[in-house]
Amino acid sequence: MNLCDFAPEYIRAIQPYQPGKPISELAREMRLEEGNIVKLASNENPLGASPLAMEAMIQALHDIARYPDGSGFELKQALSQRYDISSEQIVLGNGSNDVLDLAARVFLKPGATAIYSQHAFAVYPLVTQTIGAKGIPVPARDYGHDLPAILDAITPETRMVFIASPNNPTGTLSSANDLLRFIERVSRDVLVVLDEAYYEYLPAANKPDSISWLKQFPNLVITRTFSKIYGLAGVRVGFGLAHPEVANLMNRVRQPFNVSSIGLIGALAALEDTEFIQRAYALNRAGMLQMTDGFRKLGVKYIPSYGNFISFEIKGDTANTLKVYQNLLRQGVIVRPLGIYEMPHHLRVTIGLEQENQRFLQSLEYALEEVT
Ligand SMILES: *Cc1c(COP(=O)(O)O)cnc(C)c1O
Repeated sequence: MNLCDFAPEYIRAIQPYQPGKPISELAREMRLEEGNIVKLASNENPLGASPLAMEAMIQALHDIARYPDGSGFELKQALSQRYDISSEQIVLGNGSNDVLDLAARVFLKPGATAIYSQHAFAVYPLVTQTIGAKGIPVPARDYGHDLPAILDAITPETRMVFIASPNNPTGTLSSANDLLRFIERVSRDVLVVLDEAYYEYLPAANKPDSISWLKQFPNLVITRTFSKIYGLAGVRVGFGLAHPEVANLMNRVRQPFNVSSIGLIGALAALEDTEFIQRAYALNRAGMLQMTDGFRKLGVKYIPSYGNFISFEIKGDTANTLKVYQNLLRQGVIVRPLGIYEMPHHLRVTIGLEQENQRFLQSLEYALEEVT
């Protein structure tokens, strides 16, 4: 018998995560110049990283022979001041995906269930399956989370519910009121993970005061990341905020050095660079308008988005959608197909720099003429 046959059935059943196509790979495949390729496939910050973070990380390279501070003391201090919570409520992760994984490892086991919405972030089923627990997808409503239906899906076996707001890849937002009413109704023996990876892209009027809810709900974990508006996707830093007892358990299963020294230092500097955050926010707002205007002119249907990306629909059968995707690739524009999200008629594009958005819209116009 083959060794791999002894791997648990639930591990062998995992579908590999499909990341956005790297620029270098497309350059090789299509014989294109890397500099001519526009990657709008992974919701990365088109401005790059904050210059303050860059400077701090370059300096930190000198100390790279040393292990990082495994407790992340300074970054936790800064986060605790910024969000007015205690350091004991913070769990640092190798990206917020790591925090999602830690929560699953603490609260799930075979026989338990975790609930998430249809069309929600692919990492929820991934971390659930890794434990051998059962994932329960709840049908979406207008591409968004159907919170009452998610409540109804909770059973005595349910230990976790994942809520993404804004959600990726649909860009949908659950209102602060709806979220609060939802959390109030969830039994206190079910962990609610509120994934707010795109929180900083929300206009002030749409930002829920979610961190203040931690005082009321010991079963709430909020996850945030330095990968999106802070522009640090490559160094992998995210964090979870929770009740101290929950955070304590998550910190116990955490690998002692899960966040790199470069990541810790970059995140600390990025957190303070409010000028950069404002610039990234404004660029995204303008780019979102540019994209939606462009889609309207092309007669392309899109799902209004609160993130730094937008998903749009290609008419015709699903083969057409893949043809448009391939045609964009041939023109050197990388977007994300959404078949694994049960959205085979949609593609997702990240908001880029003005000229990148322009290039995408022109390439899309050409692709649509060729294909549909
Ligand atoms: C990008 C993203 C994350 C963050 O991933 P990191 O591991 O922090 O890079 C988390 N949740 C959602 C919904 C995302 O789209």
